[in-house]
Amino acid sequence: MCTHLHVDHVGWNTRLENGRWVPTFPNARYLFAMQEFDHWSAQNAKTEIPAFADSVLPVVEAKRHELVGNDHQIGDHVRILPTPGHTPGHIAITMGRAKDDAVFSGDLMHSPLQTLYPELSIKFDVDPAKAATTRRGFLERYCDTDTLCCTAHFPSPSVGKIRRKGNAFVCAAV
Ligand SMILES: [Zn+2]
Repeated sequence: MCTHLHVDHVGWNTRLENGRWVPTFPNARYLFAMQEFDHWSAQNAKTEIPAFADSVLPVVEAKRHELVGNDHQIGDHVRILPTPGHTPGHIAITMGRAKDDAVFSGDLMHSPLQTLYPELSIKFDVDPAKAATTRRGFLERYCDTDTLCCTAHFPSPSVGKIRRKGNAFVCAAV
């Protein structure tokens, strides 16, 4: 599953074999959020987006992809949490049976600074205002719960639990 289709989140989808990009895992199904896929498809139709062309489309051509809605689940344990703003179809991925034991937050935040200042959006956020609203909502949802928050870009160890700090939050080490 891809949280979104930016270059640094799709690169391992494919590998170059005899000059052709092919799925890295030939027997796997690759799940893309439909809204995210549609957004980048439309952008790519106007001007080629290299990461989409070499790391997403080859998976589609190999028929290993599945476009899923935001209500999609894998078994009893893996669910989608829509978190738009960084990109239009950005999703977080939650894991756990009947509760979120862990959540992969993707790029809805990039730095621990954004837990202290959720309104701070970075230049890569397609919709900075929505990204900020989504970020605060996400942090509020998991604040003072046992859910392990697995971030993509925080410094190592990149995981923690969200705790309240004043009018904001911290991602506390576990
Ligand atoms: Zn990104």
